[in-house]
Amino acid sequence: MSYNINEKGYYGEFGGAYIPEMLYPNVEELRQNYLKVMAEPDFKSEFDKLLKDYVGRPSPLYFAKRLSEKYNTKIYLKREDLNHTGAHKINNTIGQILIAKRLGKHRIIAETGAGQHGVATATVCALMGLECIVYMGEIDIERQAPNVARMKMLGATVIPALSGSRTLKDATNEAIRDWINNPVDTHYIIGSVVGPHPYPDMVARFQAIVSEEIQWQLQEHEGTKKPDYVVACVGGGSNAAGAYYHFLEDTDVNLIAVEAAGLGVDSGESAATSVLGKEGIIHGSKTLLMQTTDGQITEPYSISAGLDYPGVGPMHAHLYKSGRAEFISITDDQAMKAGLELCKLEGIIPAIESSHALAIFEQKTFNPNDIVVLSLSGRGDKDLDTYINYFNL
Ligand SMILES: *Cc1c(COP(=O)(O)O)cnc(C)c1O
Repeated sequence: MSYNINEKGYYGEFGGAYIPEMLYPNVEELRQNYLKVMAEPDFKSEFDKLLKDYVGRPSPLYFAKRLSEKYNTKIYLKREDLNHTGAHKINNTIGQILIAKRLGKHRIIAETGAGQHGVATATVCALMGLECIVYMGEIDIERQAPNVARMKMLGATVIPALSGSRTLKDATNEAIRDWINNPVDTHYIIGSVVGPHPYPDMVARFQAIVSEEIQWQLQEHEGTKKPDYVVACVGGGSNAAGAYYHFLEDTDVNLIAVEAAGLGVDSGESAATSVLGKEGIIHGSKTLLMQTTDGQITEPYSISAGLDYPGVGPMHAHLYKSGRAEFISITDDQAMKAGLELCKLEGIIPAIESSHALAIFEQKTFNPNDIVVLSLSGRGDKDLDTYINYFNL
């Protein structure tokens, strides 16, 4: 069995491009060109150079000594938190802006929930001098004021989505409407391994730099390219896809995906998509998503804005269904505790998304000789208010 994408754009039974006919030319143009463009030497060298000089790659693979001692196993942290803009998302937005330029697009649109992807998109638009329009639910604009300010400072126009629940899915609808109306000059930057084919594959390939680096960095540290476990939190699934990418077909390497259980998997307030999800179509791809018995999408909940998504990318739906990856759900409380523990033991304040991944060490026991690589997807600066309120700091 293969765990990567097939020619038709499917991971097992998941994926595809379930889009309105009016969007077909846009998506088809991208599908026909993305692999060709990415293979051009000129593209590769510009992408690599920006990752090095602008993003600050390679991100370190750090042996967390005190954390390892506490859990009696070997824990390495892949430090995506040290990237410019504070998370892994920039790897993807750099890649997509280079594709957009080569396809002759000079207008960029995106949708954002918590604002992290909006900021990463506004950043690369400023870098390239391209027009940037970010759709964001009116409610999210109120909740995420600092990120809205960042986007504006970076020169983006933030347009509120006023329909429906005025959150992420409504912003997505607005972005799709915009793209239908501007098929020639506009590229739509999607922020995770979600959306119609070729987006999940394209985003996974841009994030694959993470596992490419893990391989040679682990060789330097441990004399082997292969960890025993790779652990990552999953919202849409892009930091996990990047951390897994070069290990997907090597079943000696165990993959662990950590989802947000919110107040508890069975509480009705969670974002544990694969466990609770049923097959359905969201954002143009067939995947697992949280829905009511008559197929309406359920509002997810997590203390972490980046994991608060009702679906999961098709790669992860397949990893779940096939059993290739182990899925673990972590509650708000478990994540917050693990986040604070990393601060105290290693002097690193993690994003609350990443804190979910860190929390598995309380739940699962590893052998002393196991090499566990954990994707530290982002830094905690953006979450300071949440930490302050939670711990009464
Ligand atoms: C957005 C975000 C996530 C979740 O997105 P994925 O596509 O699942 O990686 C995780 N961590 C951080 C820090 C984020 O900003």
